[in-house]
Amino acid sequence: MDTTGATERYLQMTGRSPEGVWSAPGRVNLIGEHTDYNGGLALPIALPQRTVVAAGRRDDGMLRVTSAGFRRVVKLALDDVGPGTPTGWTSYVAGVPWALRQAGYDVGGMDLAITSQVPLGAGLSSSAALECAVGAALADLYGLGLLDDDAGRTTLAAACVRAENEIAGASTGGLDQAASLRCRAGHALLLDCRDGSATPVPFDLTEQGLTLLVTDTRAPHSLVDGQYAARRRVCEEAAVILGVPTLREISLPDLDGALSRLPDDEHRRRVRHVVTETARVEEVVAALELDDWVRVGKAFVLSHASLRDDFEVTSAELDLAVDTALAHGALGARMTGGGFGGSTIALVPAERADDLASEIERAFADARMRAPVSFPVTASGPAARDA
Ligand code: ADP
Ligand code: MG
Repeated sequence: MDTTGATERYLQMTGRSPEGVWSAPGRVNLIGEHTDYNGGLALPIALPQRTVVAAGRRDDGMLRVTSAGFRRVVKLALDDVGPGTPTGWTSYVAGVPWALRQAGYDVGGMDLAITSQVPLGAGLSSSAALECAVGAALADLYGLGLLDDDAGRTTLAAACVRAENEIAGASTGGLDQAASLRCRAGHALLLDCRDGSATPVPFDLTEQGLTLLVTDTRAPHSLVDGQYAARRRVCEEAAVILGVPTLREISLPDLDGALSRLPDDEHRRRVRHVVTETARVEEVVAALELDDWVRVGKAFVLSHASLRDDFEVTSAELDLAVDTALAHGALGARMTGGGFGGSTIALVPAERADDLASEIERAFADARMRAPVSFPVTASGPAARDA
């Protein structure tokens, strides 16, 4: 990991060298969308793109933060952090020591300088990459031992989720933080959001002559604007009506019976997406074990249709990127992340990936949409200390 940008930024802000440098990856979710807060299954990989944090402790309980692309250096007292304070991008940073303190960990002030290769607001989880990089730095510098094993990383992920939910005010589930802290290079992570378990699943595309092409539609999504929270609320209402703790308790054979007990079409469609989506994660894991990539691709296509028609979180850009990919040789394609804009993934024979990127760009130009950015990704490593 290139740590020079963050290190130089730190030097500019503090006049000293950092005590260390940490980084954490963004993610794409292969399948299992809007399942995390319903106790369901998801299957993310960590991206090669990472957020880097150069850090050093302070003994005055203050947090001082700078991030590339944001002009202001922000300084605030840790004791002042709480729901509603601070606002803006620093909430994702300040929320992490706040949540660790809430969990009983003794953490103090920090100087933090941040750079990132994860595009912001592209559905590739720059928010979790930021929280997890900051969390990794805090955990190491304050000797919390939370990076040492999966149990510690699970605890740290929970603190990062609280930071995002309660300080940043985005009601996301736990998928992104688990991916950033618990993924393994060369593997996808089968995440069970009911029991919190995470199982690495080998995921090596180059061996298969395949490429996973990410397309950032650059149609910015906003999870804080209420749509995400609205979907989550309907799912939680449905679980109450059905008398289950989460929608995970509804299995595929129970689905029709459950749907008949729901009051309206909106609840029925949201529940149908969530229940069938967890089944599709199981389908993809089974297909990966058999190296049956055609089956994987088919599940991607069904997932996108369900997110478009039943969960209603796609956009014209996401649909166009997926349709173009399918028309130009992709085995499968779908939106990834929360939706309402953001990114898609396409599983495509390696030799056709460049052409596909051009075709998507052309389709967007024809539709007078902002130019998208496509790039291949591989399953990469989790949050770690780099220097
Ligand atoms: P996503 O996680 O898909 O990129 P979100 O809306 O969840 O999109 O998070 C994006 C927000 O996270 C940004 O608007 C900003 O507030 C914050 N953020 C992410 N990365 C950084 C960074 N490197 N520096 C400052 N803020 C960041
Ligand atoms: Mg996010």
